[in-house]
Amino acid sequence: MSKGAVEQFVKDERGKTDEVVKIELDLEMQFLFHQLKKKLGNGLSNKETLRKLLRQLTENIKEPNSKKIPGDGNYKSRYIPINNKRMALQQTSGKCSFERCTKPHDHIHHISPYSESKNHHPKNLMPLCKEHHELVHNKDPLYLKYRLR
Ligand SMILES: [Zn+2]
Ligand SMILES: [Zn+2]
Repeated sequence: MSKGAVEQFVKDERGKTDEVVKIELDLEMQFLFHQLKKKLGNGLSNKETLRKLLRQLTENIKEPNSKKIPGDGNYKSRYIPINNKRMALQQTSGKCSFERCTKPHDHIHHISPYSESKNHHPKNLMPLCKEHHELVHNKDPLYLKYRLR
């Protein structure tokens, strides 16, 4: 949408009530959302974070079909390259990815399983402590009590 089109849309829609869209975020979505929120500035509300993201996406998306994250499917070995590991660990200072968890990571979890994605890109890696790694794999509903960093 061009800037003019956005302005016209806002003008046309003025006076109408906001649309309520309810979306349940799964674990991967929570993780990605919190990562992006942190990058955009921690003081933002969820709504403002989403607004910024949508604006940036509107500007940046040129090929709607390119959903792949960098490095997708390019890795031949199950072994995570050291630089990718380092970058993933930098995001959490070596700790577990869960927000209130202060434990050091015990395992680097693949958000999209390696067996399916063959993807060791840092965006697909999530450092987790032993307990939370088990939680994620067992999809224990307890994990909903926790928030990701
Ligand atoms: Zn895992
Ligand atoms: Zn943990």
